Amino acid sequence: MKVRIGVIGTGAIGCEHARRLTKVLTGAEVVAVTDVNRASAEKLVAALGISAEVYGDGHELIAAGDVDAVLVTSWGPTHEEYVLAAIEAGKYVFCEKPLATTAEGCRRIVDAEIAHGNRLVQVGFMRPYDAGYRLLRQAIVDGDIGEPLMVHCAHRNPEVPEAYVTPMAIHDTVVHELDVLRWLLDDDYVSAQVIFPRTTKYSHSKLADPQIILLETAKGVRIDVEVFVNCKYGYDIQCSVVGEEGVANLPEPMSITTRKNASLSQNLLSDWKKRFIDAYDVELQDFIDGIKIRSLTGPTAWDGFAAAVACDACVKAQETGQIESISMPPRPPFYDAE
Ligand code: NAP
Repeated sequence: MKVRIGVIGTGAIGCEHARRLTKVLTGAEVVAVTDVNRASAEKLVAALGISAEVYGDGHELIAAGDVDAVLVTSWGPTHEEYVLAAIEAGKYVFCEKPLATTAEGCRRIVDAEIAHGNRLVQVGFMRPYDAGYRLLRQAIVDGDIGEPLMVHCAHRNPEVPEAYVTPMAIHDTVVHELDVLRWLLDDDYVSAQVIFPRTTKYSHSKLADPQIILLETAKGVRIDVEVFVNCKYGYDIQCSVVGEEGVANLPEPMSITTRKNASLSQNLLSDWKKRFIDAYDVELQDFIDGIKIRSLTGPTAWDGFAAAVACDACVKAQETGQIESISMPPRPPFYDAE
């Protein structure tokens, strides 16, 4: 039997996820959609050629008897209320990042899920599903490079819209590193600092670009993340883990090399959607498969909370210019891997 899914929010990623549920993945069907802009939800239903019901709002959709699980892909500030409503209804819910816009909001979700008694929430952090990051983690777990000591990362976008301002470098961009590096190193952050190099002429007065985020983990690993969102040349994700006995690098996305006109060249991606397209497929398939065996194993509400705590410290560090401490409470045993 297929898992019947309701999609709240039919913007860019909501449409993408509805498409992959309908055309790429197995074991699920989109039976309900909603969006503040009803016409956008109707357009999606028509484009996919499905017979999904269009609901007036997210709460009606969550309450619908034929909706087994919910995808929350609406605007970030709406996520908390929909995830809490899904938990209240006892329904599985996949929530795009952020889980909530504040750490307190994420904590409310954690508390509600624990009170419910079993895992219902998966957060849309897709990098742990990326084949390259998985190889990198396996190399660390297998001890191939000895104990990790340092990590050097870069997150570069060719350009961003005018509305993208300095704190968004953390909440919208570095949040992916904050999530995946905790998972990669099996560690938590204890401090954050943000350094502002000279700003590129391609930025504007409300965006300091690039930025360097310096993190320290509980085990003493030092991490630097360069975030540069007007880098012009492409969408480029780099991650290099320096261990006691070697260095492990995130593989580059597959691309052909050409020899022509006395030069050797290789194309880079420019669109983030293409960089992690396979990871998005795998994360949603994992959500569907987890529902079928009533055991979710993907990024948890606790991971969403941990990312929010780290984001808050990084934004504070942007403002103060100081090293800000990060204090994570112990992870509840509820979230221990089974
Ligand atoms: P988007 O294109 O603006 O889509 C958001 C959609 O939700 C819009 O159609 C918006 O309508 C609608 N919406 C707003 N409030 C709503 C409500 N109360 N009920 C139902 N629908 C509502 O944004 P997006 O790029 O798809 O991003 C959506 C979320 O996914 C964001 O939280 C974003 O951070 C996250 N995201 C994650 C990734 C990733 O890599 N994991 C990538 C992209 C996005 P209006 O346009 O009319 O306001």
